Amino acid sequence: MALFDRFRGSLFNSLKADLETYLDKDHIKAIYEAYQLAADAHEGQKRQSGEPYITHPVSVARILASLHLDPQSIMAAILHDVLEDTQTDKATLADRFGEEVADLVDGVSKLTQIQFQTKAEAQAENFRKMVLAMAHDIRVIIVKLSDRLHNMRTLESLSNEKRRRIAQETLDIYAPIANRLGMNAFRVELEDRGFAALYPVRSSVLKRSVRKARGNKRQLLKHIEHGIRDSLKEAGIEAEVVGREKHLFSIYKKMLKKQLPFSEVNDVFAFRIIVDKTDTCYRALGSVHNLYKPVPGRFKDYIAIPKANGYQSLHTVLFGPHGAPIEIQIRTREMHQTAENGIAAHWLYKTNTSEKEPDRAHLRARGWVKGLIEMQENAGNPLEFIENVKIDLFPDEVYVFTPTGNIMELPAGATAVDFAYAVHTDVGNSCIAAKIDRHLAPLSTRLRNGQTLEIVTAPGARPNPAWLNFVVTGKARSNIRHFLKSQQRSESISLGRRLLEKALTNHSLVLDQIEPEVIQDMLTIFKFKTLDILLQEIGLGNRSALLVARDLAGRVASEQSDALLEEGQTPLVIRGTEGMVLTYAKCCRPIPGDPILGFLSAGKGILIHAETCPKISQDKLDREKVIHVQWEEGVQGTFEVELKVQLANERGALAQLAIAFSEAESNIDNISTESRDCQQSTFNILINVKNRRHLASILRRVRKVKPVIRIIRSR
Ligand code: MN
Repeated sequence: MALFDRFRGSLFNSLKADLETYLDKDHIKAIYEAYQLAADAHEGQKRQSGEPYITHPVSVARILASLHLDPQSIMAAILHDVLEDTQTDKATLADRFGEEVADLVDGVSKLTQIQFQTKAEAQAENFRKMVLAMAHDIRVIIVKLSDRLHNMRTLESLSNEKRRRIAQETLDIYAPIANRLGMNAFRVELEDRGFAALYPVRSSVLKRSVRKARGNKRQLLKHIEHGIRDSLKEAGIEAEVVGREKHLFSIYKKMLKKQLPFSEVNDVFAFRIIVDKTDTCYRALGSVHNLYKPVPGRFKDYIAIPKANGYQSLHTVLFGPHGAPIEIQIRTREMHQTAENGIAAHWLYKTNTSEKEPDRAHLRARGWVKGLIEMQENAGNPLEFIENVKIDLFPDEVYVFTPTGNIMELPAGATAVDFAYAVHTDVGNSCIAAKIDRHLAPLSTRLRNGQTLEIVTAPGARPNPAWLNFVVTGKARSNIRHFLKSQQRSESISLGRRLLEKALTNHSLVLDQIEPEVIQDMLTIFKFKTLDILLQEIGLGNRSALLVARDLAGRVASEQSDALLEEGQTPLVIRGTEGMVLTYAKCCRPIPGDPILGFLSAGKGILIHAETCPKISQDKLDREKVIHVQWEEGVQGTFEVELKVQLANERGALAQLAIAFSEAESNIDNISTESRDCQQSTFNILINVKNRRHLASILRRVRKVKPVIRIIRSR
């Protein structure tokens, strides 16, 4: 036990040494309490490597301490696995360390539960959850990224399969998020470790090539570095000059993307110049441009126009000795801090200032998360959402100006439509043309840095589906889709309304004059939340307007006649003019005058059977939706009836029969022979009738035909 206590003490001491550099005693004491709780809770648990589990959360806390993060984040890091892996609950944490810490731990636990699957849909859904967790407190993702970083540092003890899965997930999700939050140091390490775990051979070959190339370039590198130092000194500028090397994964990506061999990708000298203040950055720029000629078009002023993640720097490329390009970044120490730690820089624990103002990186990250939430609300499904987010996670911006001189940042390849939506959703939805640098240009025009844009809108203009072919921002894409969807919706609602109104005129009703309670009753029965949803269903053809109108008419009638009939018992009156939505069963061929039953069948409307039809079994009555129907007085139209006729084999017998039908004002639609012998033949004859009375008169007339032996209606 004593041994164990000594272990515990020494483990905390390593963290304590980091904390003492920037936190006071009280904070360290509170963090120690969190440590005690975590150490107790995880006692007996071991990592895959065999080490006590508590070493992991402490290492995560140390990563954050190296960034000088605030005490709450440090405590959350130490406690980040206790909710998930131990008996400790959130209330206990809130009680001992405050709501803020408890919420952070809870947020990190929720992220931990997210298992990124290979299945795109699941992944998208998980990413959605992650965004929501981040929206609550961005520190959640900072703690999570540190957790992931430590896991990546200790990958070796895991199985091959698990190692690959975690590495892939890191490259797909966590590294881009670190990038988006401006946490460059995290991103670089996550990427290089992910790359090494996923492609061990490629990574080690590349590493050797880089080392070798560095040896070859050493002399030239020294020469250039001295040149830069001397020229800065001459200009009286105090600066730190460091040689910069691209990290392995970015070299690898560049080789893949540009299909270039290593020698060409790596053929660049890169330096970073760090100075005291913004003003000095520009003076340093002048000094290096004086030393070597700048490559035209390669200068970028990210100080005046910072990147989306808050990154600030001057970038320039120089023609070096022997034509070797030299990339230069110039920034202040503070900008460097932001460039390395991004959003995390906001929570740096500040001992000597009371400044609580969110900095630019923070505001931008907030804006980004807000945009993501908006996108996920508009997206129809998680896949659509992740598609939009992916565009957003890999930014490569262009900067353009509004007519009033405001700077808008858009992803590379963005068009005037993207710009319009970035200004405001309404501007996007009603834009008809763009003026780029005061000249009219098509909406699909790809924007270039520095252009001034003015969007021409027109009232009543609407987004064009073709825009989806060229817009690149998630915001434009999701808004256009959203608009088109609601457009289709409102169109089908209005069509549904017209159909229902038309159907209601059959009952001498006007939709707007029906009591709201009556409509509400019907909606409840049909299980629709709103009338619009029902109208939409009618418009899309999923519901019959006639049926709905009939039901409404029944309700209105029953209200007015004090409910003579039980609800739902009012029969649907068949007029014979219903068209497509009404079908008469071929088995029994009901005609006006026959007692009938209606069956509702999905997508086909109503099927009418004669009540006496033998096909209506009991289980059909139970299974299907029966509608009470009845013929209207003076029902319109003609109906088919099948007759069975026994006819003596005489010359001209069929002709006489045909004449008789015709004289009785009926037509023969079809005749087929059922049986035939030398005496007589039996025919099935399909004729048109108006109703039962008409049929009776036909039968009477046909029986008078001499060759007719027997005639019956077949059912
Ligand atoms: Mn963990």
